[in-house]
Amino acid sequence: MGSIYYAVKCPCCGRSAFKDYYYKTDEEYIVCLRCGFFYKKVIESETANSVEYVEETNDGHGIFILYRKDGSREKVSLNSEITDEQLESYKSLFTNEEIDQEKSYLVSYKQGTFTILLGNPPENFYLPFEEYKRKMLAKYGLAEDEIMVPLVE
Ligand SMILES: [Zn+2]
Repeated sequence: MGSIYYAVKCPCCGRSAFKDYYYKTDEEYIVCLRCGFFYKKVIESETANSVEYVEETNDGHGIFILYRKDGSREKVSLNSEITDEQLESYKSLFTNEEIDQEKSYLVSYKQGTFTILLGNPPENFYLPFEEYKRKMLAKYGLAEDEIMVPLVE
């Protein structure tokens, strides 16, 4: 099944999100590693003459990115406002000696505002999509009208 994968403006926070588009079936997924937004549109049922899609959207409330020293990585999208219990358990995960604290981070997102709770997000994290796109086009020497913006976290 063919799909293309590229960066798009996140409908929730306006920064760079990733879109996985299945051009043969018109199905798609959008995942934002800035605010945690998630969207999917997939085929629910299909007959010879018609296709029914089902959509699902989760607004972003934040993201928790954990890098281990062995190079493996975990991503947790927050589906609702972070609770004190979650924050405590993320803190203890974050301070584990297996974790690379330089690269890991926890950020909450509420009413248009990002709050960094743990660690340091990478430089690209902060860029609005338009700036991110300009940077990527310059970096890879692509034309202004390029829609297939490369993905770099
Ligand atoms: Zn977002």
